[in-house]
Formats: sequence, C-alpha cells, structure tokens
Amino acid sequence: MLLKGKKILITGVANDWSMAWAIARRAHDEGAEIAMPYAMPNLEKRVRPLAESIGAKFVQECNVQNDEQMDDLFNKIESEWGKLDGMLHAIAFSDKNELTGRYADTTRANFKNTMDVSVYSLVDLTRRASKLMTDGGSIVTLTYYGGEKSVPNYNVMGVAKSALDSSVRYLASDLGRDKIRINAISAGPIMTLASSGVGGMKSMLRLNAEQTPLRRNMTLDDVSGAAVYLFSDLSSAVTGEVHHVDCGYSTTGMIPNDLKEVLLRGLDEQNEQNK
Ligand code: NAD
Repeated sequence: MLLKGKKILITGVANDWSMAWAIARRAHDEGAEIAMPYAMPNLEKRVRPLAESIGAKFVQECNVQNDEQMDDLFNKIESEWGKLDGMLHAIAFSDKNELTGRYADTTRANFKNTMDVSVYSLVDLTRRASKLMTDGGSIVTLTYYGGEKSVPNYNVMGVAKSALDSSVRYLASDLGRDKIRINAISAGPIMTLASSGVGGMKSMLRLNAEQTPLRRNMTLDDVSGAAVYLFSDLSSAVTGEVHHVDCGYSTTGMIPNDLKEVLLRGLDEQNEQNK
C-alpha cells in the first residue's frame, strides 16, 4: 500500500490499452483514490466502466483545450476532495498525416496544435493541480526517446517531447519550494491508440524488442510500477528527472551484433532480388 490515502488525478485514459489506465489501476491497488476524466464524449463508453471498476471519481469530459471544462474539473476536485497528492499527465495529440514522412513538411497549424495539446497541457494542468497540493505532491508525465534523438516518423511529436522534457525541469524548479515534485517517465514503445498513429509502429516494435539490452519491449506493468515509485514517498528526493523505462534502449549506441547480421542478410537478399 505505497499510495495509501493519496488522492491522484489521472488524465489520458482512452481505453484499457492506455498507459494511464495501467497506472490508474496500479495506483488504486496501492491504496490511492483516483480522479479519472476523459477527453471527449465518444470516450465515455470506454472510460466509465473502467473508472467504476476502481471506484474512480470525477469521470467527466475534460478536453485540455477547453478552459471551461478544465475550470469545472478542478472546481469539483477542490470542493469534494479539497486537495490533491498526485497527478498523471498522459496526453498527446498530432495529425497522424504528419507522423510519417519528413519533419520538414510539418504545417504551422499542426505544429501549434501538437505543442498546445501535448506540452502546454502539462503547464496548465500543473498550475491548477499544484494549487491543490497543499501537503506537497508528485506529478508524473509520459515522454519518449524521440524527444532526445530523431526517430523515423515521430517528427513533430519528437519536438513536442523535447519541450515536454524541458518543461519538467522548469516546473520542478518552480514547484520544489512547495514540496511538489515533477518527473517524466520516458516509456519504451507500446501499442496504444496514440502510438498506432505513428507511421511504421508495428515494425518499430519488432526491431525495438531485439535491440534493447533486455531483449524485449516495455510492458504496461513496467510503466505502472515506475509511476507508483514516482508517486510514492520512495522517490522523495527525485524531481526534474526523465526516468527511462525502456528496457535499456536509450543507453545503447549501436545495434547488437546478432541483429546486425540479420539486418545485413536481409539487405543482401534485397540487393540480390533487385539485380
Ligand atoms: P492513449 O491514446 O491511450 O493516450 C493518449 C491520451 O491523450 C488519450 O486518452 C487521449 O484522449 C488524450 N488526449 C488527446 N488529446 C486530448 C485533449 N485535447 N484533451 C485531453 N486529453 C487528450 O496512448 P498512450 O500511448 O497511453 O499515450 C499516453 C502518453 O504516453 C502520451 O503522452 C504518449 O505520447 C506517451 N508515450 C507513449 C508511448 C507509446 O509507445 N505508446 C511511448 C512513450 C510515451
């Protein structure tokens, strides 16, 4: 019961594949009370049964681009709970037509919208949530390695993740004096509604599993365990960090020899066929 009695706002649950759902369920198992809004009306039928299964509250529409819905959610949390101990930000969006091909072709409209939904939402949610963290608190966001290095097709979302990682460091500096910590989990790739929009996701998952030091992909249990640690007092001196939960992928500099051989063999075969 690492989170016994803690009140945690979980954003970003779309369905039972969502990383936010895995984290909500695990936090509930560890004794937390959960608030679980959803982004838009068509998600309610998926999110409400999940919320009911863990007794989550504040199951209401909250699109981060809608100030009235944001005001309403936080007013209700303040009047019913009076405080918050934790918040998960698990929100990202970009036009999937621009999550393939060249970053250079990103439109101004999609650049702005991607940054607004995927980055500014952390700033806005943090400002609102921190006002209710009167006994200190812990905020966690979800990021990806594509913000540190270029990853094929990740494009503008990679640039948004760089800004998200940087926001974590600035917000940690703002909030530390109020005993509020904020950290990012840099999760390895996993199939979800959001990631299915990134071009070539299936082959990326296959390659990634073979390239990590642990020779597998990250699981929902891996990410939810790390989130429990960051929400709990076990991580009481950790803030402003980007914590990689990626089976070690981000620590490697070159693909392993056995995989290199397989890839080169594939290339040779292709060259033969092209002759
Ligand atoms: P997901 O589709 O389950 O979650 C994305 C969530 O963002 C959805 O619940 C969606 O409703 C929400 N959202 C989008 N626009 C919104 C808006 N305007 N207002 C409120 N909510 C909005 O997919 P996921 O993969 O679990 O994504 C959660 C987070 O994890 C994202 O930030 C994503 O970039 C990040 N991440 C994902 C992976 C991966 O491989 N799946 C890896 C690393 C990081």
